Amino acid sequence: MIPEIEYHRFSRLEDALRFLSENPDSKIIAGGTDLLVQLRARKINVKKLVDIYNIGELRYISEDSGEVKIGALTTIEELKNSKIVEKYVQPLHIASRSFATWQVRNIATIGGNLCNASPAADTAPPLIVAGARLRLKSIRRERIVPIEEFFRGPGQTILNPDEVLVEVNIPKHSGQWFFNFMKLGRRVSHILSIVNVAVAVKLDGGRIEDVKIALGSVAPTPIRAKSVEEYLKNREATLENIEKSSLEVVKDIKPISDVRASAEYRIEMSKVMVKRCLREALKL
Ligand SMILES: Cc1cc2nc3c(=O)[nH]c(=O)nc-3n(C[C@H](O)[C@H](O)[C@H](O)COP(=O)(O)OP(=O)(O)OC[C@H]3O[C@@H](n4cnc5c(N)ncnc54)[C@H](O)[C@@H]3O)c2cc1C
Repeated sequence: MIPEIEYHRFSRLEDALRFLSENPDSKIIAGGTDLLVQLRARKINVKKLVDIYNIGELRYISEDSGEVKIGALTTIEELKNSKIVEKYVQPLHIASRSFATWQVRNIATIGGNLCNASPAADTAPPLIVAGARLRLKSIRRERIVPIEEFFRGPGQTILNPDEVLVEVNIPKHSGQWFFNFMKLGRRVSHILSIVNVAVAVKLDGGRIEDVKIALGSVAPTPIRAKSVEEYLKNREATLENIEKSSLEVVKDIKPISDVRASAEYRIEMSKVMVKRCLREALKL
């Protein structure tokens, strides 16, 4: 049984922002697929709910010459069905295909996935390797932050109580980039990740000119695998180099044991997943 909570629903962003600024004890609800589970389990205590799900101005996917813009209330199913996301943000598109079930994808939002700040959030590693920036808005001001600065710990972000994540901005990449995303769960799909990995590799001929690798569910926040990246930069894109680089990931991760897997298993699987994800991206 959920304790009694004041419920306020808005259809205009400005009204929701004003209410949040005057009621700092409020909690935002979007699709509710994380929040309602937490409320039912009494993991959080909420006095006032601010339902933003009907704010249509936050639901869109658009592109201009430089970037893709995704409104925070865009559902995971909409990401999956988007030709723009498929073309320009491939790891996010792959992640949306293995995300939860059809029913959950249809209501769960990209903003909720990020703001819930689960270390296992499947949209986070793809957006990290894509160099995404997040637009945060309150009635007083607006700021744009790199996604890597957004997460503070499990369930914690830099968001102030009166701020809403309104948009995700993703730069378009030029040159010979290769992308991928992989997720390991206790089943192939419809399950939270034990380890998830996204990669973005830029080749100059056979040489790795630039590379970004991000993992989820192996540290308090989604993280970059900077040791692996350092190893790979300016080396040839060979199977041997990828195999050796994947061993470096142990320097970047700090997994815990939980209901889904032990820390030891996560460490071993992180090496395997980094290797597989890179191999598949580069077709090696
Ligand atoms: C059966 C099931 C399967 C799932 N499978 C997966 C999976 O495969 N991969 C995965 O990553 N997750 C999974 N999830 C978790 C969940 O569905 C996602 O995290 C989802 O994207 C959350 O979005 P939401 O709109 O439902 O967020 P909500 O539950 O409404 O909100 C989540 C949190 O974010 C805050 N919030 C929401 N939107 C904003 C905003 N715009 N600005 C500021 N704060 C905001 C809320 O206050 C709350 O703290 C699953 C959940 C269920 C129940």
